[in-house]
Amino acid sequence: MSFLADAEIVVKALENYYRESISRKKPVINQAPLETLISELDLSTDIQDGRLTGERLAQFLAKYLESTTRLLHPAYLAHQVGTSHYAGALASLIDGFTNNPMAIYEMGPGAASIEWYLINWLLEKVGWHPQPLRMPDSPDRLFGGGVLTHGGSLANLTALLAARSKIAPPAWQEGSPRDLALLAPAESHYSIARAAGIMGLGRNAVYPLAVDEKGVVIPQKLPEVYARIKNEGKRVFAVVANGCSTAAGLYDPIREIGEFCNAHDLWFHVDGAHGASALLSKKHKGRMDGVELADSLIWDAHKLMRTPSLCTAVLVKDFRTIDQAFQQEASYLFHEKEQPGFDFIHRTVECTKAGLGLKWFFVLAALGEQGLEKHVDDQFELAKQAYDYIASQPEFECAVAPQSNILCFRLAGSDQLQIDIRDTLIARGEFYLSTTVFCGQRYLRMVFNHPHTCLDDIKQLIQKIRDLVDERTSD
Ligand SMILES: *Cc1c(COP(=O)(O)O)cnc(C)c1O
Repeated sequence: MSFLADAEIVVKALENYYRESISRKKPVINQAPLETLISELDLSTDIQDGRLTGERLAQFLAKYLESTTRLLHPAYLAHQVGTSHYAGALASLIDGFTNNPMAIYEMGPGAASIEWYLINWLLEKVGWHPQPLRMPDSPDRLFGGGVLTHGGSLANLTALLAARSKIAPPAWQEGSPRDLALLAPAESHYSIARAAGIMGLGRNAVYPLAVDEKGVVIPQKLPEVYARIKNEGKRVFAVVANGCSTAAGLYDPIREIGEFCNAHDLWFHVDGAHGASALLSKKHKGRMDGVELADSLIWDAHKLMRTPSLCTAVLVKDFRTIDQAFQQEASYLFHEKEQPGFDFIHRTVECTKAGLGLKWFFVLAALGEQGLEKHVDDQFELAKQAYDYIASQPEFECAVAPQSNILCFRLAGSDQLQIDIRDTLIARGEFYLSTTVFCGQRYLRMVFNHPHTCLDDIKQLIQKIRDLVDERTSD
């Protein structure tokens, strides 16, 4: 076995895979049954022989790549996970090879330094103060902090643990008090309710915020909802807003919610897993206006930042809150321990933690900040163009004008029709869309993330949908 020779096989196969994908030569999705794949990939033989190298590796890889869902295909429009840049994939390789679990500094000084730097860079984008490595004796402001986690779901849990530790510091020792309540719009991601479950608060501790007909929070109704919950004898430990929502990509009015929370000393958490990337765009950062009023924010890099899965930043306005998220007393580990760097381990669920920052950094460094800004602008713009086009087609309607790179639309007809359309498109492998329920109706849903996807693709998609409905009616 030779690393260089095998790596060359892998890289050549991936290069070929990339060309096939962007040129739309292969189906964007192709789901063979699980038993078929296990047998075709001949997994047991390779495990017994232990010789997956050279020509065999090439053969295996050819079969494996055929079994993938092609996120590098411009007709991949289904989910939020983005089209990763190869630079990020190279960083994944480097991280895998060096295998530096950097949650303690001595196990990955370079990776830990990059994570520290990235977190501070992101804090500045939010409008918070980066954390200095040495705390001034009498700090004159709050310093932010954060950590990178494997995904937004874990990030939401981490941020909400920080929120709980602020209002109920003994909770870590004694368990969650029974009177804690979480306020979130019904459109919030399921990981918010899941976090409440994991934290032992129970799903019932999540109270819905009043929303308009599009599911967007109505800030004027906050006082009423808050008073009602207080009257029930509950303590609100966090208010959650979407920046933006998962289903339709709509932003809650962050500034107004933030002002209410600040006035009532409530922890304000912005779930920016999908939409915080707008902060890099001069054109669109207004959607996140007021985010600096929040106490915590999460931001996925694997959605709009072209970074391979998974990579999410948990950011807090006051670093002490995340330092005590998993323990009662904030401990300033890097002051206590004689070492040249910083341990992230007390800020995360994870113990062995990959050097996630390398992936995000590599993409940033390959495209530059302006490159990623352009990516966000392009994808938001394409969503708008697709909206204008689809909304002008008589038999089609859009749920709502897009505010991000997510667009929901439907063909006049039943909910089942939308599901049938998606199933047929997927079976043919030409387009890959998702569906979602928005305002009680089933919609086809597209998330734009591929630099090669253009309005022509959308026009073709609409034509395909018309054709397949014609075929159905003529059957
Ligand atoms: C995608 C998403 C999440 C979950 O993030 P993962 O990285 O998939 O775990 C959380 N919140 C919102 C608003 C999202 O869109």
